Parts: sequence; C-alpha cells; structure tokens
Amino acid sequence: MDTQQSWAIKQGSALHQEMISWRRDIHRHPETAYEEVRTSERVAQLLTSFGLEVTCGLGRTGVVAVLQGEQGGDEMIALRADMDALDLCELNEFEHRSCRDGKMHACGHDGHTAMLLGAAKYLAENPAFAGKVCFIFQPAEEGKAGARAMIRDGLFERFPATQVFGMHNWPGLAAGAFAVHSGAVMASTDSFDIVIEGQGGHAAMPHLGVDPVVVAAQVIIALQTAVSRQTDPLKSAVLSVTTMRGGEAYNVIPESVTLTGTCRSFCPEVKHQLERLIQKQAHHICEAFGAKATVTYRAGYPATVNTAKEATVAETACLSLVSPDQVLTDMPSSMGAEDFAFMLQERPGAYIWIGNGDQEGFRGLHNPYYDFNDDVLALGASYWVALIDQLLSR
Ligand SMILES: [Zn+2]
Ligand SMILES: [Zn+2]
Repeated sequence: MDTQQSWAIKQGSALHQEMISWRRDIHRHPETAYEEVRTSERVAQLLTSFGLEVTCGLGRTGVVAVLQGEQGGDEMIALRADMDALDLCELNEFEHRSCRDGKMHACGHDGHTAMLLGAAKYLAENPAFAGKVCFIFQPAEEGKAGARAMIRDGLFERFPATQVFGMHNWPGLAAGAFAVHSGAVMASTDSFDIVIEGQGGHAAMPHLGVDPVVVAAQVIIALQTAVSRQTDPLKSAVLSVTTMRGGEAYNVIPESVTLTGTCRSFCPEVKHQLERLIQKQAHHICEAFGAKATVTYRAGYPATVNTAKEATVAETACLSLVSPDQVLTDMPSSMGAEDFAFMLQERPGAYIWIGNGDQEGFRGLHNPYYDFNDDVLALGASYWVALIDQLLSR
C-alpha cells in the first residue's frame, strides 16, 4: 500500500474495521438479482443511521441516499455500487463464507457496497462540501440490468446528478493500484439464436431432404469470417457460437438445428454491423441450401465507455491517493460487460478498476474461491471521498 497521508479513511482505522464487518456480513448473506432484500434493508438502515435521506425500492431492491453538503449548493454527483451476488457454490472455508447454498459474492459486490457505505459515513461526518452526493446502491448487475431498472424507475429524474461514477475491483491488479480508461472499459454483450429449418428424413437418403446439420456447419464457418474478414481490425470484436442443438438419432436427419451465441464489441457501429452480418449470412446460406433461417438478435448490456473529462477527474482523484506508477491508464479494456454502461448512457461519468491483489494464487472474479480483499476497502472509500473533494469543493 502507498502513502496514506492523503487518504480520508486510513488503513486500520475504526471506519476501515467497520467496513470489514459490513463487507463480511454481506458476504455471508449473498442475494442475487432483485432478491437483495436483506442487503438493501441493511444498507438503508446504515445510511439512515448516518443521517442521510434514504429512498428504497428503485428498480425493486435498489437504494438511493442523498447527502447535502454544509456549504449549500445544488450540484449533485452520483456514486454507484452494486449489491448482488451470483448463482455459484462457494468453496471457501473461512468464517464469513456464504451461508446460502448455491449463492456467493464472487464478484466483490459485497466490497463495493461496503466501500460506498464507508464513504457515505465519512462524508456525513465531514460534510464540508458544496452540493449534494447521491449514493446509488443498485440490484442485479449480474445479467439482469439492475442499473436500467433503476433508470426506468426515474433514477436521474428524481436524483438529477450531473455526473455518475462507478468502480469495480480487479483481481490481477495490485492492491493499492487503480486502472483508469479514457474511453471504452468494458464491451457490449449481445446474444443471438439462429433456428435453421431443413427437411428431416432417413440418414441413408439425404438427397430426399435438406440436412440442417450440414447447413448449420456452413453458417458457423461463415460467421467466423465476420470478425476476421469484415469488421475493422482496429475495432475489437468477438463472435462466438456457443451451442448447437439438433438431432436425436444416428440414422435420422433432423428437421431443424438451433445455434446460439454471443457478440462482444466496444463501439455501436461494430455491434450493429455484427447483427446485420449474422442476419445476412444465416439467411443467404440457408437459402442457398434450400433451408430457412430465423434469427433472433438480442441486445444485452451496451459497451461501458467513460467520458474523457470524467476519466480525467477519476484519474486525478486516484493520483491524490497513490503514486503515479500505481495509476494505470494503459490497461487493455475487458471483453466482459457491465451494466453501469446504462448509467453512462444517461450521464457523463467514469468507471474505474481498483486492484484486488496480484499475489500468486489470487482468484479471479466469479471463481468459487474468490474473496474481496479487505485491505483495499479504505483506499476504495477514500477514492469516493477524493472525487467529492475535487468536484464539490468550494
Ligand atoms: Zn460479475
Ligand atoms: Zn461485478
């Protein structure tokens, strides 16, 4: 860990200890998408005890709290943490391991929640700023778009923040380090289904039918050229066909085959291009073989793209806490996705990574042995405070 003079919340302080106990309590009681009832009650209770104005039930289990600085002012800055866990069986054996079978905080949202609670408590006790801080605790980040649910419930109309900031822990990045991206951080993630209808029949008489298995194979091969031959090589994309279902017997040509898969990219042009390519290739290849394609393309999370000005604000806040070599601005973006993207479509902002440790044997996100690193709670909460110092100081 780096020099701590500038940290609002010191390593090993009473507040750091409190954050550890909140974090472990949440870890012990993981709840998944829109079922974060206990977690959101606990969060709301703590925020109320700090003296904040608390609103519950946005996006079903989301919680929002507002803190007015003592120097007045209406400008509102939003800070966001996610609260949900994963459907995963925890294999850790420490005392704070999950007490709920098949549910686990394996993405560190327990730590994100604890860090934002720590910042709320600190700022409530040290409100020497001008403006308002809006603390957003969102449900269902893992695949169920809790951020969008809160936005649809009027998040930014009811809490008109001018900027929004998010943070995720990053295993593999040293504890005490940050990564800040000036643009794209995480990819968009879409999914597709392609149903190929042929004409089933006897496997010994293929000429009497249309074999959808062979057509599906052609479609898969063609789709692999979409990224390699047709999208701009300087704009990253992934197209993976991940399941192929069809057929029951050795001697029967099935009536249909279904392919499913996922597309990842960082910019909307590539995303739309991939959708068009899948439609076109599937339909034309099927037609050429006398089969019929039905393509369903579903947009998932958009790409998470920081706005340049807010990325600089985030970087400056990190630099106020740790040495410049601990603030990485050249880390590659991730092909993973993040629903904070929906918030960044509504407001300028930045989403950064905080190191969760790079020791040998560290566990990655979504691993059954993963655990949030309690050593970084004080630094993460201090980052939130540093952002507010910078944006709402008078
Ligand atoms: Zn996750
Ligand atoms: Zn996560």
